[in-house]
Amino acid sequence: MRIDDLYHRERRPMKAFIAQRLIDGTGNPPLENAVLLEDNGVIIGVSRASNGIPNGAIQIHCETLMPGLIDTHVHLAYTGKPDHGAFRSEASETSYPLLALRAAKHARETPEWGFTSVRDMNAPGGVVIDLRDAIQSGYVQGSRVKACGLGLSVTGGHMDRGGWGDHISMRDMTLPCDGALGFIRGARSQVKRGADFIKINLCVGSRRDPLDTPYRQEMTDDEIAAVMQEARHLEKFVAAHTSGGPSVKTAVALGLNTVEHGHWVDQETADLMAERGAYYVPTLLVNERNFDFPLEPLPLGTRQWLEKSREDKWVSLGIVRKAGVKIALGTDAGFTLPHGSMNARELELLMHGGLSALEAIQAGTQTAAELMQMQNLGSLEAGKIADLLVVNGNPLEDIKVLQDKTNLRVFKDGLEVRA
Ligand SMILES: [Zn+2]
Repeated sequence: MRIDDLYHRERRPMKAFIAQRLIDGTGNPPLENAVLLEDNGVIIGVSRASNGIPNGAIQIHCETLMPGLIDTHVHLAYTGKPDHGAFRSEASETSYPLLALRAAKHARETPEWGFTSVRDMNAPGGVVIDLRDAIQSGYVQGSRVKACGLGLSVTGGHMDRGGWGDHISMRDMTLPCDGALGFIRGARSQVKRGADFIKINLCVGSRRDPLDTPYRQEMTDDEIAAVMQEARHLEKFVAAHTSGGPSVKTAVALGLNTVEHGHWVDQETADLMAERGAYYVPTLLVNERNFDFPLEPLPLGTRQWLEKSREDKWVSLGIVRKAGVKIALGTDAGFTLPHGSMNARELELLMHGGLSALEAIQAGTQTAAELMQMQNLGSLEAGKIADLLVVNGNPLEDIKVLQDKTNLRVFKDGLEVRA
């Protein structure tokens, strides 16, 4: 039993949201003049006419009503300082309890900007697993969280970079694993810790030979096969940090569930992803974010890589979309970008990449909920959790209205989120 179950929960009055337009998150055209009824955190019905509103229901009139948004790629423990080095130093200089408290601040702020659920993709000490439980238990307020604990990376790989002094302990920043057995142990240890899914670092951007092969496989084929088999055994999804290249196809063929970043996805891989039901999380914003700052201080190879990935990610998104792959919204918030205030820009970028406004919203609602295996979220249908966004404006005409929190009233579990 959870602690909060010990307290008596008072029954709340029903709420009736009366909307000029209701966007349900499924990609269907909006419903005009709709009414959504909420009772104790659950949607109990969506209808067209405004008659039949139960007596005593609190009436909330709005221009647009849509599901709470979901960001499927964040790092709650990190602040998003616009400096790649900060990601390392601010974790190494902070104790786990302080990291957890900082993550709690970010989880509390994120819903104010319309994002009621997030998926965390690595936190030192696995602290976001505890934060997830604290939010569920009502100890702290915040977005709904799914967490991987520590990401698995080969020794010296993308998430286990060198360059630290010998006196510094890097224990539990991420989880270095080597060999098939190492990855099996890694997956099991994170599930034991309470992980909702497994995160792996499959391949990395190669700055050495940027224009020919801008990606490099990190895990061996044996390690990929072992971790995929173990995840199936543990009944957990696997998310992979990727750049591109053959290892992505190898992993998708073995059951990889989500391809993160994937600046270079070729036709064959895209077709396989569609066939296998793998999701694509293009994280367009974090790549664009590099260009908000002067590039000069970066080494030439890094600059060339960034510029190439900036161009090619739109090509990959086009290929993936045409192949019919499910696309989900993810920003990488916490890494060079803050939590909350920028997440909704990803919707605008998805549209820049060819998605309609309805498709972009679906990527951040229904598809994101499916990816996180939260079937009771992500669309406005009877029986689903009442995570709702009341929008002043029409995001189908101007998606940017979602970027300004003064346009939003946010409800999580039917309760209004207050700053
Ligand atoms: Zn990330």
